[in-house]
Amino acid sequence: MLTERSTLTQFLIEERRRHPGSSGELNSLILDVALACKAISRRIASGALTGVLGKAGAVNVQGEQQQKLDVVANDIFLRATEWGGELAGMASEELDEPYPIPPRYPRGKYLLTFDPLDGSSNIDVNVSVGSIFSILRAPVPGEAAETEDFLQPGTEQVAAGYAIYGPSTVLVLTVGTGVHAFTLDPNLGEFFLTRQDIKVPEATAEYAVNTSNRRFWEPAIRRYIDECLQGVSGPREKDFNMRWVASLVAEAHRILTRGGVFMYPWDSKDPEKEGRLRLLYEANPIAFVIEQAGGLATTGRERVLEVKPTGLHQRIGFIFGSREEVERIDRFHAEQTDEDDAGDQSYPLYGLRGLFRTIT
Ligand code: ZN
Repeated sequence: MLTERSTLTQFLIEERRRHPGSSGELNSLILDVALACKAISRRIASGALTGVLGKAGAVNVQGEQQQKLDVVANDIFLRATEWGGELAGMASEELDEPYPIPPRYPRGKYLLTFDPLDGSSNIDVNVSVGSIFSILRAPVPGEAAETEDFLQPGTEQVAAGYAIYGPSTVLVLTVGTGVHAFTLDPNLGEFFLTRQDIKVPEATAEYAVNTSNRRFWEPAIRRYIDECLQGVSGPREKDFNMRWVASLVAEAHRILTRGGVFMYPWDSKDPEKEGRLRLLYEANPIAFVIEQAGGLATTGRERVLEVKPTGLHQRIGFIFGSREEVERIDRFHAEQTDEDDAGDQSYPLYGLRGLFRTIT
């Protein structure tokens, strides 16, 4: 086993040799993140045996019920990464404000954002959940990071990825040189390289969307899904399959493995929100991974990675996956006219939609 496959550590060291000038701190930070993912994987695997399932009794900054495991996973991430001297600050889905590095530890040149347990509302039903992370450069290395420091477009990410806790635990990583997957050997407690330079298939016949929101969608999304539903007898001239796990990491991993397109577009259900998923620690890291694997990620109006964030917990419409499908959905948004909306009871929010228009 040890001679056949690289460990994550070995992979990172060899990657660094190929890119002189890259920092050893980044490798240390990635290994600390990987340690956090291993620890979370163990806690999840024990499930009800250790009493970690169920609600924590608190509501997080997103207004979502915190699960006990959200709190546990968040603490694991903080403890695993705060001490090493690589970070100037962290931001988590579970924390209102950026987490300051405790004064007893040195501060470094990177920022870490993470969703410690994505899909945790499904944890009690034992489906795959995950952790998502993104690493940025701190604008002022060595100084305590402030909220504005985190508001960098996704193109600035140095590294990003996720761990999926499924039948096996897999860490998917990009440092901007392709996408690689490492499977956890639970006996050795090591991640081993199991898929190198992953590519998202360009064409697909599989989509993932929460169709219960159909009446709130924009015409472009309804047009796209309606055409898929018409199958061989419709304009697409092929039958599609639908998948919906309601776990972003699980959807991203499926698409990375066999292609597909995922949509959680902006809709008019909750007009205050620009989307459902969070830009800094969900959409950006997944978009970076997907683009590095040859896929595309869009809001419907612009490339996700080019969106200039305005808030730590900002939400965004998020569509990603196989290139051909994402390009088609982008085109449908561009072709969408005001007449499409006229007389449509579902779209009373011309103000917000007008706002989007000015962006394009
Ligand atoms: Zn999440």
